[in-house]
Amino acid sequence: MPDFDFVVIGGGSGGVASARRAGGYGAKVAIVEDDRLGGTCVNRGCIPKKLYSYAAHFRDEVADAAGYGFSVGEVGFDWATLVANKETELTRLNGIYQRLLEGSGVEIVRGRGHIADPRTVVVGGRRLSAKHILVATGGRPQKPAIPGIEHALVSDQIFDLPRLPGRIVVVGGGYIAVEFAGIFNGLGATTTLLYRGAMVLRGFDDDVRRHLTEEMTRKGVDIRTNTQVRAIRREGDGSLVVETGGGAIAAGVVLYATGRIPNTSGLGLAEAGVRLGDKGQVMVDHWSRSSVATIFAVGDCTDRVNLTPVAIHEGRALAETLFNDNPRPVDHRDIPTAVFSQPPIGTVGLTEAAARATHAVVDVYQATFTPLKQSISPRKERTLMKLVVDRRSDRVLGCHMVGADAAEIIQGFGVAIKCRATKAQFDATMAIHPTAAEEFVTMREPVKAPLAKAAE
Ligand code: NDP
Repeated sequence: MPDFDFVVIGGGSGGVASARRAGGYGAKVAIVEDDRLGGTCVNRGCIPKKLYSYAAHFRDEVADAAGYGFSVGEVGFDWATLVANKETELTRLNGIYQRLLEGSGVEIVRGRGHIADPRTVVVGGRRLSAKHILVATGGRPQKPAIPGIEHALVSDQIFDLPRLPGRIVVVGGGYIAVEFAGIFNGLGATTTLLYRGAMVLRGFDDDVRRHLTEEMTRKGVDIRTNTQVRAIRREGDGSLVVETGGGAIAAGVVLYATGRIPNTSGLGLAEAGVRLGDKGQVMVDHWSRSSVATIFAVGDCTDRVNLTPVAIHEGRALAETLFNDNPRPVDHRDIPTAVFSQPPIGTVGLTEAAARATHAVVDVYQATFTPLKQSISPRKERTLMKLVVDRRSDRVLGCHMVGADAAEIIQGFGVAIKCRATKAQFDATMAIHPTAAEEFVTMREPVKAPLAKAAE
């Protein structure tokens, strides 16, 4: 008899969700983690990022308040308070994770797990024999090898800076880069975003990318596209200089947000016969099973869709399959996602470009407007809403928004897209007035031609 039915390596979103679900079905489960419970999302990702994003929005709220008759004095911001309050909240969440695991009967084993063979995980001097092993070790930031790269920070290190930098240079054009550029700009740092391509957020709808670029620029972020960093230097006074093809930029902090790679090295995976991809990701089938029948993997270490809710879904589906006689593959289509930029993006389904590439006739419905809240505010922030529709089936293929509350709004429309809703059903839905979201059910005329051409 093995010691455990299920040994999970990694106490992040996917691992904890899978362990708890398995424990809930009576499986004997151990979870191996050497750091704080909750993984990247809780400790160095989604949760602290969202708190900092809320913080960055307050400057806008204060600006809005003036238009509503409030006289607001000089606004101060104390970085140390934000960091300390964030830390208190994370500690509370770590405790909740621990209690939830214990409540599901899961044994928490502290240390680094190593796969000794397809049925054994070693943690320190302890050998855990297992019927099934789950690898849920997540990912980590990567930086390119350029001269002086050691001076650049990654997202893991950015939350606990000793003070808010006066000037920050953010390198990259993905989720993390645009989110942190917005956060630091909103908190008052002079912010420059350097991106090697033509327009940030490759893979998102082109109108969304363009709209966000305009709004971020209007808020004061200096976005420099087609810009490669050649080197980073530290000056005698401790400040940094970022050398680009277009000149040098001074900064207190340089943040690299140039992607993440799976955390799979040193785990003994290849030695156990597990097939890894070119980035080191565990290659799995739609049951999250690796090339070794007893070893499974979920979340960012598989490099499928690297989002917390996806990892949780994969982890729970696996527990259903293994321990509840309820085989559940994971459907990775139509995953709603948000970028907590300033303003935020919410999106689900196909971009216009992807829809045009796969469907014969595509109609695009689009609206750009100043939301009611801003109508009497000195701050003018525009919202973009866009529907991509397959004319033949009338199905809404994509739903995209840039503007206040976009993430909250798109979560609901994500259900409609998952249910394969048609434009006629959107039209038959009564509006909630006055809201921004009502625009999605009141757009009548398609725009004649695509308003935007693909950026690349
Ligand atoms: P992304 O993969 O989203 O973006 C990486 C960016 O870095 C791209 O713009 C890429 O450019 C650029 N880049 C890559 N290599 C280099 C290089 N050598 N030099 C210069 N630029 C480079 O990664 P992130 O780090 O932003 O985020 C990692 C993942 O974390 C995301 O993909 C997402 O899955 C997840 N995440 C989700 C969030 C959310 O749900 N809100 C928030 C934060 C992260 P190019 O486009 O040219 O390839």
